[in-house]
Amino acid sequence: MQKNIICVACPMGCGVTVDIDDNGEILSVTGNTCKRGDAYARTECTNPVRSLATTVKVDGGIYNVVPCKSAGAIPKEKIMECMNIINNASANAPVNLGDVLIKDILGTGIDIVATNHCPAK
Ligand code: SF4
Repeated sequence: MQKNIICVACPMGCGVTVDIDDNGEILSVTGNTCKRGDAYARTECTNPVRSLATTVKVDGGIYNVVPCKSAGAIPKEKIMECMNIINNASANAPVNLGDVLIKDILGTGIDIVATNHCPAK
């Protein structure tokens, strides 16, 4: 089987073709123009992951929400469930840049951290 994907590891967006055998083993990766593309394609075909960037509600802050991100990549199949947890979470002001808002989300070992401040009212 062949999978054609677009590498998103940098803005070049190279088209990459991955040959996979019937057992799911990767036989070859072609079309990438650097090693990062090879690594991206292999991960995308075996264990796709995504980084999250969104917001979390804040109670008692001068803003209603604070921007946040996952401190690492999360398995793609858990992204929607993680978003549900984040959408239902809230933080108490003040929130500082780098604060852990949700620890070890869904047991992934990845924290959701604030990417900006939100002072208290
Ligand atoms: S293969 Fe390399 S150059 Fe091409 S998009 Fe991926 S990271 Fe960028």
